[in-house]
Amino acid sequence: MSFFKSLNVEEEKKEVKIEGEAEKIKCLIIGSGPAGYTAAIYAARANLSPVIIQGQEAGGQLTTTTEVDNFPGYPQGVTGPVLMEDLKAQAERFGTEVRWGEVTSVDFSQKPYKLVIDEKKIIEAQTVIIATGATAKYLGLESEEKFKGGGVSACATCDGFFYKGKTVAVVGGGDTAAEEATYLAGIAGKVYLIIRKSYMRASKAMIARVENTANIEVLYEHNTKEITGTNVVTGATLIKKKGTPEEEEVKIEIDGFFVAIGHRPNSMVFKDYLETDEVGYIKTIPGSSKTKLPGIFAAGDIQDDTYRQAITAAGSGCKAAIDAEKYLSEL
Ligand code: NDP
Repeated sequence: MSFFKSLNVEEEKKEVKIEGEAEKIKCLIIGSGPAGYTAAIYAARANLSPVIIQGQEAGGQLTTTTEVDNFPGYPQGVTGPVLMEDLKAQAERFGTEVRWGEVTSVDFSQKPYKLVIDEKKIIEAQTVIIATGATAKYLGLESEEKFKGGGVSACATCDGFFYKGKTVAVVGGGDTAAEEATYLAGIAGKVYLIIRKSYMRASKAMIARVENTANIEVLYEHNTKEITGTNVVTGATLIKKKGTPEEEEVKIEIDGFFVAIGHRPNSMVFKDYLETDEVGYIKTIPGSSKTKLPGIFAAGDIQDDTYRQAITAAGSGCKAAIDAEKYLSEL
């Protein structure tokens, strides 16, 4: 049996020979965010003996956030890591097996579907629920890394609440950035929108919303050099008109820095077999979690570029498990 390893975009496809006996699994769930764990809770209770492969970022995107106040059932709020531990414990309570590892290649060309974990272990799965999520893109600055969870965020809906009356910056010129900026403008006292070009890429309607919001100041042709502060963010150093004779350094005072430069859906490993949109989000049959391949389902951010919330991901994980159970019962 041979598989193509195709996890990273940058990496050249190379054929990897995998030998050995395959483990047979009824319901394999890939990804350990709210979608994966909710799918596991439902699948376990339906006697599908689910196995979760946690993926590179165990617990998913929520493990990088602090307080989560919008997940129902936690009236006092909960931290992202605790919420994920709770979901994991709930999935395990019904017998879900949670494993370390990453799906490094798949062969969905015929049934049984085959998946390779960490380039060595082969699994044959009757049903697969893909809940690998999307990863927010960051600028790649060292200071950004330092303040993640302490003033740097990639989700205004999750963290905006903490900036009531304060000053924040949003970086990005697309629809997400425009949306995050207008959302934050309703909470914060002032919002800087930092755009590297001399224009916004966002839709006309979103640009108009930004322009008509009094407390948003758009900084065109600005690049972020550094986010500053000691324990928490207190400012940012920007470069205006980078690489031109008018280049100058600009310092702004801010309490929060929101990155909104796009998301990368983690679908590379499946893209040869499943339909995706041009960005890489897996397409599902409307109103369901079904992909074009029978027995393979997608849940959470991997198939949702619109809502991207923990609770919507959890809901779609529930749907995927129900779809998987129905598929197996009809076999
Ligand atoms: P986009 O890819 O559309 O935009 C990303 C933005 O980030 C661009 O302005 C880009 O700049 C900027 N950017 C990228 N890298 C950097 C960097 N290193 N430094 C500074 N700026 C950077 O992503 P979005 O998430 O905004 O949108 C994704 C898709 O989702 C789009 O199709 C969008 O229309 C859609 N969407 C629709 C919404 C709606 O309809 N309500 C809401 C949100 C998203 P540059 O322009 O210079 O490349």
